[in-house]
Parts: sequence; C-alpha cells; structure tokens
Amino acid sequence: MLTTLDDKAVLSSRSEDKDALKALITDTLDAILDSIEDDSAFSGIDPYRLRDAVAGLGFLPEEGMEWQDTMESIRKTILPNMLRPWSPSYMPHLHSPALLESIASELIIAVFNNSMDSWDQSPVATEIEESMIHGLCSLFGYEADADGTFTSGGSQSNMSAAIAHRDRYIAERLGWDVKKEGLPPEARKLRMYTSEIAHFSFQKSAHVMGLGYDSVVLLPIDRNARINIRKAEEIISKDAEEGYLPFLIIATAGTTDFGSIDDISSLRNIADRYGAYLHVDAAYGSGAIMSSRYKDRLGDIHKADSITIDFHKMFLLPISCSAVLVKERKALDCFLIHADYLNREEDEEDGYINLVGKSMQTTRRFDALKVYISFRTRGRRGYERIIDTAIENAAYLYQRISSDDAFVAPVRPELSSVVFALRGGDELNKRIRRELLSRGTVIGQTVYQDHVMLKFTLLNPALTHEHLDTLIATIKETAASLA
Ligand SMILES: *Cc1c(COP(=O)(O)O)cnc(C)c1O
Repeated sequence: MLTTLDDKAVLSSRSEDKDALKALITDTLDAILDSIEDDSAFSGIDPYRLRDAVAGLGFLPEEGMEWQDTMESIRKTILPNMLRPWSPSYMPHLHSPALLESIASELIIAVFNNSMDSWDQSPVATEIEESMIHGLCSLFGYEADADGTFTSGGSQSNMSAAIAHRDRYIAERLGWDVKKEGLPPEARKLRMYTSEIAHFSFQKSAHVMGLGYDSVVLLPIDRNARINIRKAEEIISKDAEEGYLPFLIIATAGTTDFGSIDDISSLRNIADRYGAYLHVDAAYGSGAIMSSRYKDRLGDIHKADSITIDFHKMFLLPISCSAVLVKERKALDCFLIHADYLNREEDEEDGYINLVGKSMQTTRRFDALKVYISFRTRGRRGYERIIDTAIENAAYLYQRISSDDAFVAPVRPELSSVVFALRGGDELNKRIRRELLSRGTVIGQTVYQDHVMLKFTLLNPALTHEHLDTLIATIKETAASLA
C-alpha cells in the first residue's frame, strides 16, 4: 500500500516507480467509480455549505500527507460534489460527457507530458498533430495550402483567426506591419461583423486586440436565428461608404444557444465585395461534418478563410480540445517569432517542425492525441451515429414541445439545442429552472427577444426519447407545483 511519496517519485524505468504509478492510478480509478452510485448530475449541495467544506481541506501543509489521507479528502469532499456531465438529467450547456477511450488517452498525455512547442519536446506528438490537422483540413474541404493548430478552446481559436485576419488585412490594405509597429492610425475604423447572438469571444478578442467592443458590429437575426443577409449587406455597405474598414465577417455554424447556422455562402459574397476575410465559428456545429445526413447543414463551410472546431462539444472529447484551421497557411505567420533556445531557423530547414511558430501558446498539451484515438476507435460511422442521435433527439423534443400548448419553442433546431419557454412569463420560467436544479435536473436558461427562455442542449448519445418524455413530464409537474 502506498503511504508517502519520496522526493524522487517521478516515472522512470525502476519497478518501484512503475508500481507506485499503478497503485496511484488504481486507487484513483476505484475512488472515481465508487463515487458514481446513480445517474444524477449533481449532489445538489448549496454553495455556502460547499465553500465551508472546501475551506476545511486546507491549502498547503508543511509536510506532505500520506496518500491515503489525500485520497480520503478526495473521496469525501471532492468526488461526491463533482458535476457529472454524462447524467441524462444534465443538459444546460455545450458541455458533454467524454467518450471512454478519450479519457484513457488523457493518461498518455499526462504521463509523457510532451509539449507541443518544439519538435525536441514532442517528436511523435508533433507529427501526429500535424497529421490530424491536415486530415481535418481535407475533412472540411480545404486544399493543400491549408493549415491549422490545436488550441485551448473555441475562444482561443476564434481569437487566433481574428488576429491573423486583422494583421493580413492591415498589411494588404494599409501597408502596415502590426506585428512590429502595433496598430496603425486607421485602427479605429476597423470593423468585424457577426450575428447579434454570436459567441462573446469576439468582443473579448476585440478588446484584447486593441480594437475595443465598438469594433464588433452585431448583425440582426431573422426568424430562424440566422444573420439577416439583406440587413447585413445594408449595414456593411453603409459602413464602407462612411469610411469604416470591414476586415472580417464571422458566420456562426451552430450558435451557442440555438444551434442555428448562418448562410456562409451569402456572407462569403459580401466579404468578397468589401475585401473582408470570412471566419466560420463552428465550435458547436463542426461535429455535423461527420454525418452524411446532416453535413449539408454546414453549407459552404470550405469557402471560409478560417474555421473554429471544438472537440469538447459535439465530438465528446475531454476538455480542452479545439482547433483553428486556416485556408492559407501563411495566415498563421502572425504567431511566428524566433527564440534562440526554441525554434532555430536552421531546424526547419532540416525537417524539424516547431509548432510554437503557428500558435498563440508556447507550452501546449498533446490534445491531438484524443482526436486521433477517438477517430480511430469510433470511425466516421460511429461518430455519425453519435451526431445523428443528438440532432434527432433535438428534433423529437422540439416536435413534442411545439405541439404542446403549455410551451412555446420559437426556433426549429438545426443541431442539438432546443430553446423553449413555458407559457406563464419570465418569472415562472426562472423559478422552474432553479427548482429543477434543486431536484437534480440541470437545464439552461437564456434570453430570446427580451424573454427568459429555457434550453436543452442534447449532446449525450445515451439520451433516449423516453428520457425526453420524462423530462417534459417533470417540467410540467414542476411548473404545476409552483403555480
Ligand atoms: C462554446 C463556443 C465558443 C467558445 O468555445 P470554448 O471552447 O468554450 O472557448 C465559441 N463559439 C461558439 C459558437 C461556441 O458555442
């Protein structure tokens, strides 16, 4: 039995180290599995009690504790209060359960602790990431000159793309080198355009990029929660006439709340008319590419200059795992900077690829392994069944809800989210969500046309129509109990 770990306890070829690692992992796995007694999503503990319990754990003991002691606190306080995203009662966010084999791949990532910045820190990992990136480029219809990088998530993928396009636009239009000189005097005129229901990471990016929230123009949506193309054209053309510089149009393929997909082809035409780049934020909808039945819903995604993919949403991989793809490799040169100790220019000439040159991050995890392992384990077909189940569950739930007078559901789902409200007003809907939470059913809440709406995000492939029927019944009972 493991007691204390000595200072030399890192993995090596010594059998003591191997045995210790095995014992640690076995103990941990036993504790995890023991903690899962039912399929509830959450213990329901209130935040004040949980804070007290955590405060009782302490911070940094002077001497290390025995492993069993640590495990005890994990078993007692941490594991029982973890959120369990695989629960059929959990559907508030684009937050998925993780495929079993992808959990196992996290072990390889952690044990070898390779870092994706330079080839000498991640030889086979660099080659696998490159190979996955090139496979993804062709999966999304890009040609040989495309490239990409894994990132920490959709927010970073979006920001990477926005920076790349800003720098290129400014170089081409204004003959100015942002990397060297910072923003040009005309920077206050730069504008990017996206849906009023696009992800907030574009405002955040605009701030970090020195352009400010005002540079993000929000375009109105139509009845299907897609960018209204006619109004978009009017707004952008008026801005261009007034001397603004439209450098980027962003289509969303799967808005966070509704899963609605903008008309990429029409936005491409507008972008071309004004010399803007086109980014598609497919953090949510990218999974649909696996489905022969539904991939057309992504429209002409290959016409985008860049694409954000999240693997920790529809692809059901552990957080975090995302990629940004660019149609032209040189777009990512904005992140290239040479450091004498890391990515010497002569390395590249001799075939050593240092991925730091196309990433915002330096030290970076081998997240590509999770994609590699799950793609191999499931195949395109396996993923197709997972994605089709999610989309068809949403269609089923929407059909049930929209044919029931107790509910309103304003937007027909294209992916796996259903936004709805119970008739009875905003306050009732807010109270229902809180009440369901305290009873262990976690659903989402958002706003649509100034009204509080509730939301189901159905990523879990284990959800069945029976679960959804029960859910509707539970919501109606809860509403009745509050009335
Ligand atoms: C989730 C989401 C993001 C942000 O991705 P993270 O991985 O959470 O950083 C961006 N865009 C859309 C449309 C999303 O749904």
